Parts: sequence; C-alpha cells; structure tokens
Amino acid sequence: MEQLLSAELIRVDSAIIPPPPKDDAQRLDALVRYQIHSLESDGFLNDFTQLAAEVCGAPAAVLSVTKPDRIEHISRAGTGVAETASEDSFISRAILERGRLVVSDALTDPSFKRSASQSGGNGIRFYAGAPLSTPDGFLVGVLSVMDDKPRQLSEAQSRSLGSLAQAIMSRLELRRKTLELDQAMSEREKAFESLNASEERCAMLLRGASDGLWEWDLETNEMHFCVGWKAMLGLGASDLNHTPDEWFKRVHPDDIERVQSEIMSHLLGLTPQFQSEHRVRRQDGSYRWMLSRGLAVMDSNRHVYRMTGSLTDVTDQKQAEKKLLHNAFHDALTGLPNRVLFMERLTHALTKVKEGAGYTFGVLFLDLDRFKVVNDSLGHQIGDQLLIATARRLESCLRPGDIVARLGGDEFAIILEHVKHVTDAVQAAERIRERLASPFNLSGHEVFISASIGIALNQTASEQPDELLRNADTAMYRAKDQGRGCFELFDKGMHVRNAALSQLETGLRRALAHDEFRVHYQPIISLETWRISGFEALVRWEHPEHGYVSPLKFIPVAEETGLIIQLGEWVLREACQQLRLWQEQFPSDPPLSMSVNLSGKQLSQPDLIDRISQILSETGIEASTLKIEITESAIIENIDDAAMTLRRIKALGIRLSLDDFGTGYSSLSYLHRFPIDTLKIDRSFVSRINLPKNTEIVKTILALAGNLGMDVVAEGVETREQILQLTGMNCEYVQGYLLSKPIDGRAMRELISEIYHKGLGQQQAGAA
Ligand code: C2E
Ligand code: MG
Ligand code: MG
Repeated sequence: MEQLLSAELIRVDSAIIPPPPKDDAQRLDALVRYQIHSLESDGFLNDFTQLAAEVCGAPAAVLSVTKPDRIEHISRAGTGVAETASEDSFISRAILERGRLVVSDALTDPSFKRSASQSGGNGIRFYAGAPLSTPDGFLVGVLSVMDDKPRQLSEAQSRSLGSLAQAIMSRLELRRKTLELDQAMSEREKAFESLNASEERCAMLLRGASDGLWEWDLETNEMHFCVGWKAMLGLGASDLNHTPDEWFKRVHPDDIERVQSEIMSHLLGLTPQFQSEHRVRRQDGSYRWMLSRGLAVMDSNRHVYRMTGSLTDVTDQKQAEKKLLHNAFHDALTGLPNRVLFMERLTHALTKVKEGAGYTFGVLFLDLDRFKVVNDSLGHQIGDQLLIATARRLESCLRPGDIVARLGGDEFAIILEHVKHVTDAVQAAERIRERLASPFNLSGHEVFISASIGIALNQTASEQPDELLRNADTAMYRAKDQGRGCFELFDKGMHVRNAALSQLETGLRRALAHDEFRVHYQPIISLETWRISGFEALVRWEHPEHGYVSPLKFIPVAEETGLIIQLGEWVLREACQQLRLWQEQFPSDPPLSMSVNLSGKQLSQPDLIDRISQILSETGIEASTLKIEITESAIIENIDDAAMTLRRIKALGIRLSLDDFGTGYSSLSYLHRFPIDTLKIDRSFVSRINLPKNTEIVKTILALAGNLGMDVVAEGVETREQILQLTGMNCEYVQGYLLSKPIDGRAMRELISEIYHKGLGQQQAGAA
C-alpha cells in the first residue's frame, strides 16, 4: 500500500487500494463491456459462492467485483467470519495481487500479522482468493474464502476455487453477450417498423449480430426465421414454413412444455422478457442447447400483436459450465469423485445416520502396495494407467449407492452403504482384494498390484466425517504393517499408538534438522589375529530431553515415514569419513573395514547406487573396505528388487553381510541367490550357545558358510565361555559387549590406538 501514485483512489470502507495500473483505460473498458456496474447477485452467483465455501471447507465465501469506483461484494455465503474491515483488507489485497492470494495464517503473514494481532487473532486468520479475469486478462473481481482459524488450502481445493471463479466468469461472458444482443435488438427495433419484407428485416437485424433472430406475428400466427436462425439448425435459407411449429416441433420433448409456458408468462405480462434455455434439434438430428430470448411488442392500446426475439447457441457454454463443475468434484486422471465430493458424501451419510431409521455405513481406505515401485520402474505413464485400471476395478466391486473416490496419489476411499455388520465390510474388502489380484495388462506389461485396506464403521451419529476417514486411514496403516494385500478393522487403541508414532516422527524430523544423531562404533575382532578387523556403525539419537534413544525404537518409525533414506545416507557418509581417518592413522593389512546397516526401505530407493558411489568417491575409501549389512527380513520383503540391488552394490566392489542370520525365515534355501560375503549369526544363538540345540545350529551355519565361501561373524558375544566355544568351532570373527560396547568415535580411536600398539591379547588379559 506504499505506492500512492495518484489522488484517484478506490475506497473500500476502511481499506484503500492504490490507483489502478497504466492499463487502466482498458481495464475500465473491460468493466464497461461486462457492464459490471449493473451486476447484481443472482441465484447462480449465490450457488457458486456457496460452492466455493463448501469446496474449500471454509465457513465463509464472498464474491466481490470491482465496479469502476469501488469494490462491491455481490454475493456472500456462510456465516460472517469477521468484521467487514478485516475482510475488506484481505480482498483489496487480493485485488492488488491480481486476484491470487493465499494467507494460511494472518498472525504469521508479514502483510497481515500486525492488524491480525491488533484484533487479538479474533478476526480472519485464513484467506484464499481466486481471480475473475476476462479472457484478455483484466481483473473484474475476486472469489474469496475465509476462516477465523488458520488452515491450509490443498492443491485440489485451490484448483476447485479457480474453476469456480472461471465458471462465474463464463457466466459473466454469457451475460455480456446477451446484453450486447439486447442493445442491438432495441436499436434495430426502431428501424424495424418501416421495413416490410421479413427477410429484409432479418438481414437488417442480423447485421452485427451473430445469433439467429425470429419474429412472430401473433395476429396471423406467422413466424419468420432469419437465415442465421436457420443456419444455426443446419437449415438452408429457403427451408421452413412461416409457422411457430417449425420451432416448437424441434424443441426437445422434455423442454417444450416449459418453453411454451415461459412464452405465455411473458405474453401475459408476468415476466419482463421471455428467456429460455432449451434443447433444439438440428437438421442432422443432434440437439444443441439454445438460449432463446424475446420481447412482446404492444400497440398503443397495450395490445400485444407481435413478438421478436433471438436464438443463441449456448451449448459450449453449458458444456464448459458442466465440465468446470465436474472438475471441481472429480479427479482428472481416473474420473472418480475427488476428496471434496467424497467428504460431502460422507457428511451426507452421517446426516442420514442422525436422522435415525437405523442407517449405518462403512468407510474403506485403500492404499496400493508398492505403487511407487511400479511408477519408478515402468514409468509414470504405466503408473497412470494402473491407477485408472484400478479405479475401474474398484468401481466394479461396488453395489448401487456405494461410492469410490480417489483421494490423491495411490489412495482411494469407499463409502459402503447399509453396512449392518462388520462382516459386510470385511466381505467388501475381500471382494476388492480378489478383484485386484489378477494381473493388469498395461501397454504390454503384466503388472501385479495389491492394496492395503483400512475399515472403519460409523458407530455414533456424533462422529465427524474427517474423523471417520482418519480412523479408516489409521487402520490402513496398521494393515500395511501386516504386509501386502491385508485389511484391518479400526479400533480405538490404534489412535494411542498413532499419537505416539506421530510424536516420534516429529521428533525424528527435528533431530535430523538439529544434528541430534551420532554414530557409535563397535569393533569386530578376528579370533585368529586378536586384532580389530573392522567396525559396525550403529546410529544413536541423542535426544535433548530423553538422552539416548535406542535405534530399535526409532528405526522402524524412520522406515515407516521414509526418513530412513535421509538418515541412512547420513550414517553411511559419517561412517565412511571416520573409516578413512582410521585407515590413515592405523594402517594394516588388510585395511580396517566398516559395516553399515542398510534398511529394506533403502533397498527400494531408486538412486541408492548413485548415492553410495557418490559417498565412496567423496570420502575416498576403497569399496572393498565397506560392508553393507542387510537383514533377512529386508530381503524377504521384496525378494526380486533386493536381489537386483544387492548385485549392483556388489558390482561396486562393496561386500555384503547378512545380519541377524538365523532369525525368522527358512534362510538356507535362498542364500545362494544373493551375493553374500558374510553371515552374522544372531545374538539369540550366541547368547545360549551352550544349549545343544544352539550349538548344532551354529555348527551348521559355520559349515554352510564354509561351503559357500562366506565369512561368519558371531554377534552379541558377552562371555569368555562363548569365545572359547566359538573358537573351538572355527568361527573367525566376533562382536559383542565382552570386547567392547558400541562407543563414540573418539573413545573408539583410543581403543584402536591401544590395541594397535599393545595388541588385544594383553587387553583381554587385562580385562579378564
Ligand atoms: P544390529 O545391526 O544387529 O546391531 C547389533 C546390535 O546388537 C546393536 O544394537 C548392538 O549394540 C547390539 N549388541 C552388540 N553386542 C552386544 C552384546 O554383547 N550384547 C547385547 N545385548 N547386545 C549387543 P543397537 O545399536 O541397539 O542396534 C539395534 C539395531 O538397530 C541394529 O541391529 C540394526 O538393525 C539397527 N540399526 C542400528 N543402526 C542402524 C543404522 O544406521 N541403520 C539401520 N538401518 N539400522 C540400524
Ligand atoms: Mg548390523
Ligand atoms: Mg545383527
């Protein structure tokens, strides 16, 4: 508001807008062309304003137009959010910004925070505006939504708001056309009287107007249609008789009664003009939407003897309006209802529950499993095709009245009507699972997909729509935890877990931003040489309040939220840098090595190999001195991708360890499929190695590894007895608290230095 260039200001109550820019003359011309000065609220504009509020989930919406000397709010929906002055300052600001403005929270927005805090944060907190612009780019108004609470405008909502503003604009366009035609008609009207031949009249009327005109002599019941009128219906100049029936018989049967009653109303003086939108059949049999308008002409005795009018083809306009309205509520890719429409239907369903009569329903939340993998590996086009094909299959699972929507990405949601019992919803989920199970054939690719499904049943009438959807979403996440293609029913306990999870997630994000992670190192000792052969890098979270948090607690959350990608890369870089230093300070043959844990999520990271090579070249360590540890479960999660990625890691010269070996799966059967160098026997076998069963297992693992040419590391060695037993079995490497707990880099440096100079034998002897 600093630049007040001229004295000619536009006032909006308390707010002042600076004078319009240089193209002001053209802008004013646009306002005149659209006759904005005489624009008044009507049902259509009110509907669209109302829709804007609904679409954006905002309590208030306002449609404002820039009249030449002021801004006028011509339509308003919802409750008044705040006092007018604050509302106006947002709207005039939006107009300054050429109509586009989103303020998520006025209290933190540089332009509004002062006035917002003056009002104690009680005024408008959220504002979003979309411009009403003429096709040649002049702003004639703005469609605004507001809230007294801060909030975000989703991308879909922003698009819908824009579409609604466009729909209003196309209405103004139509209005402009009809106003122009009106004017043309009244000018011609005067000349009309003196002309005789009706075709000549039409020719006259037609000059300057692209629409078709008609004239109806009510005394003789003759009706004349001009060439343009006929042309619009695909008729030649000499076609048609001079009877009104030529028109009426072409009007769509569903519309004809209405058209005739609209004519009658005007002839009886009940309406100031005849105006009717209806379908008219063209010569080729197709129907077009026409706007027909007319005026009765009276003689000096106020006796109506004639009617003249026009016909305008508004089909494109109608279709555009319909399309815009459709777009606001549908997903462009799949054509399914979008989130906005889904939420509306959900609200409606809850209203029906409140009305009683025993109506109940269920909500399913679906998320495709591994969609990202398909998208990344086969490309976005196939990804899109898969979403469309999935949408069609989901539709085919529904019963009448159910609705399926695409909420975004690979997320879909379904409302199941009349779900009386859990089993109904479970059956629906099973039906969906079966339908999705058969492969999709997409441009020659055979693609398999499954979905994780969360089910929430509406339980009380007091539930909120977003609460219900969130419950289904929560259950879906729980289903995801079970593996692919599972479904899960929501129960309240899930929320407790969820709250803790999201707290942890926030904490992890902050920790990454604030450098709260550390890497600790645990030595891996060779029982042959009694020297440190390498280290395992283990991440630690030094929480500012809770102290060290165990990776067992936060790694799963980091995996679930995708943060593991960033965290894992950080650990790898940190560990490689450290290794480089130690290799320089403590040269040995073979050189010291570093083992870094890699999560299953990282294995499906598309640029993993590039990232690893980057770190290798950045830190300058030999690839052969880096070991990547991967657990069996990470491989099993995604066997085919894992095999490929592991081979590519291996191709870099990096060695691979299979971590926690022996836990969980029937591991031996697939071992040969992966290029593994080292097996790490899980602590659970080592800690009770004295039990005969475990002794056997460890012996078998050692024999197997020997056959396959793999090394073995025994994890979790805590006692000297265990060492003795392992030595007796020819196990070469050990790692465990007995030798050293994981410690930070500085402490580890001291330990290496000591062992390097004195040897571990003396160390051990000292410790024992
Ligand atoms: P892991 O890879 O099997 O690491 C060995 C775990 O056993 C470490 O637990 C280590 O402190 C512990 N340990 C070692 N010796 C003994 C012993 O003698 N007795 C006992 N009771 N425990 C011993 P930590 O550091 O809590 O890590 C737990 C798991 O978290 C790791 O198991 C690994 O799966 C994961 N993890 C740790 N750091 C990372 C990381 O940077 N990335 C990924 N993806 N996972 C990590
Ligand atoms: Mg490990
Ligand atoms: Mg382990």
